[in-house]
Amino acid sequence: MNGSKRIMDRALTEARAAAARGEVPVGAVIVLDGEVIASAGNRTRELNDVTAHAEILAIREASSKLASERLIDADLYVTLEPCAMCAAAISFARIRRLYYGAEDEKGGGVDHGGRFYAQPTCHHAPEVYSGIAEQEAAAILKDFFANRR
Ligand SMILES: [Zn+2]
Repeated sequence: MNGSKRIMDRALTEARAAAARGEVPVGAVIVLDGEVIASAGNRTRELNDVTAHAEILAIREASSKLASERLIDADLYVTLEPCAMCAAAISFARIRRLYYGAEDEKGGGVDHGGRFYAQPTCHHAPEVYSGIAEQEAAAILKDFFANRR
């Protein structure tokens, strides 16, 4: 568990950097064979792109680096429960394990909402580990939205 916390710290750093850019503070990191191969924070505002969630940007970076549309044996760490779009992308990329921080009761698609991985139309479900550095991840989001009011 210490290893996963250490990698989640990098995702938290990405989340804080996203907040500094005025983006919803979510960060994601992809690891393969113990090595970080991609990391990203939300850039939806900067790119004018609703699909530019941290997970999607990290998947794109990792896929580009590996020259593969599938990220078999890779693990994705993200500070917030993925939304439906990202949950699907994680499945399509064949990511092995998903580690996430805070739960997202309103927008999550893994353990809330559509529960993508539990659907019969989902052909690959990663192993899911939740609650990694949950309090830190939630605090970053809470501070961000408090400061915007
Ligand atoms: Zn998403």
